[in-house]
Amino acid sequence: MSFFQVQRLTKIYGKVKAVNDVSFSVEQGEFVGIIGPNGAGKTTLFHVISGMQKATSGTVHFKGKEITGKAPHLIVREGLTRTFQVPRPFQELTVYENLEIVHSSKPHAEERSTRLDRIVEQVGLSKSVNQLAGNLPQGDLRRLELARALATSPDLLLLDEPFAGLNAGEIEGLAELLLRMHKQGITIIIIEHKLKELMKMVKRVLAIQFGELIADDIPQHVVNNERVLKAYLGDRSWDFAYNQ
Ligand code: ATP
Repeated sequence: MSFFQVQRLTKIYGKVKAVNDVSFSVEQGEFVGIIGPNGAGKTTLFHVISGMQKATSGTVHFKGKEITGKAPHLIVREGLTRTFQVPRPFQELTVYENLEIVHSSKPHAEERSTRLDRIVEQVGLSKSVNQLAGNLPQGDLRRLELARALATSPDLLLLDEPFAGLNAGEIEGLAELLLRMHKQGITIIIIEHKLKELMKMVKRVLAIQFGELIADDIPQHVVNNERVLKAYLGDRSWDFAYNQ
């Protein structure tokens, strides 16, 4: 069985099939992108995988175990962590306090404070440890969100539009950080509308439209895939993201 496997996953809201019979698997060490027009079902897919919403049908396996329908904190404990489109740190806590309250999925030989210091440094927030999260600029908020995810010691990280709301310089810095995290052994699945930046990082892209998987290929093939191009017709995010 693969490291991570989604089988025939479906999530229906009323009459909307937000995720429709989606199957794919990811091997350890991959860096996979997920694209699709607005409302395609990408975030819902993450909600269901991470246990925040219940699947209508289908299964999710991670490291050989079925995790479908488990509580989000138990899934994090297995080593699968997600981030959100809008960062969700505790605004009234400092950067460091935001990390102190995160539980790791694994025991660590090194002191907790040493580990947190290392994470803070890795994400480039050393100078802001005592700042309130609520006072951070958008780029640093994203870094804090990543630091919180790293503090859980994930084996698989699901990132939901980490570049949203960032300027070109911030995106470049964050992309470098993600590539470093990947090199250090974290498997990553990333939803992103900024396609140009995404395609530079990942080796494989899944495209989703109306809840269905319509492509699963290398980036060069996906951006020229007929179904993918059609799916994006009339969707401004394609022009914005790729043809600029
Ligand atoms: P975006 O790129 O804009 O973030 P997305 O691909 O992440 O979009 P989703 O947010 O997963 O898309 O939404 C998929 C579909 O499910 C949409 O039609 C949306 O309106 C619907 N949907 C999402 N959440 C709910 C909900 N809680 N109740 C009802 N419908 C929902």
